[in-house]
Amino acid sequence: MQVSKDHPRYNSLVTRELLSEMVKDGIVAPTGLIAHGRGEAFDYLLGEVTSENARRAERAAVALMLEARYPVISVNGNTAALAGKEIIAFSKLVKAKVEVNLFHRSTERVEKVVAYMESLGAKGVLGRNADATIPGIASDRAVCTKEGIFSADVVLVPLEDGDRAEALVKFGKRVIAIDLNPLSRTATAAQITIVDEVSRAMSNMIAMWPELSRDEAQRRKVLSDFHNQKNLKESLERICDHLTMLAKDGKP
Ligand code: ATP
Ligand code: MG
Repeated sequence: MQVSKDHPRYNSLVTRELLSEMVKDGIVAPTGLIAHGRGEAFDYLLGEVTSENARRAERAAVALMLEARYPVISVNGNTAALAGKEIIAFSKLVKAKVEVNLFHRSTERVEKVVAYMESLGAKGVLGRNADATIPGIASDRAVCTKEGIFSADVVLVPLEDGDRAEALVKFGKRVIAIDLNPLSRTATAAQITIVDEVSRAMSNMIAMWPELSRDEAQRRKVLSDFHNQKNLKESLERICDHLTMLAKDGKP
């Protein structure tokens, strides 16, 4: 479908078209479209911009990825489709492994998402040979790679499911989530929750890297000043303030 550039929701429509094409290609799961819709709704309520507190969480995330001994980024179909290039660029900067890890797992879809990431230039993407399990979650959702998530000390999980995020925390991982819903189990389980759209968040994090990579004292300060519960509360307040402002003005 051709989307007119004049349409007020142009970006949103283009993204939907992209994701729908990616479903046809077998990269995004059909239920991934529903997850995207929930994300879009929260983004609408947040004003579709990166908030100050999202920026704080992004800085803390970059600092933690740089401080990590063995950082890993978990990628699913939606993340690959929406921010594949940014994930690859960021993984190189912070020297993180990238592992394709799917909620709706099948060998074919893992292969498709890994191959898609490789087509964007990624090297050494993990996930094809899953040979370990995350304790405390049922069935094939527990599957991961020994070289990747299983061995990580810090895991960045954009758009993760709550069960898995909670299991990763219980397994002793430091979890960084990117999730537009500040109320989700993922958002509340993670140690650093970035309430921002995944492609915006990743671009911001790439831009934050130069300063934080050369200043260890600054990284430590950013981390010690960061409080996830406080930050999540501010995300909720931001939604409330935005809605109050809209209610007063009477226009979107
Ligand atoms: P949880 O399992 O953590 O309680 P959930 O079951 O409500 O959450 P899931 O379908 O498991 O939701 O995960 C999808 C999450 O991803 C949703 O919280 C949604 O807000 C978020 N999301 C969807 N698209 C994006 C996006 N582009 N950027 C950031 N977050 C997104
Ligand atoms: Mg869920």
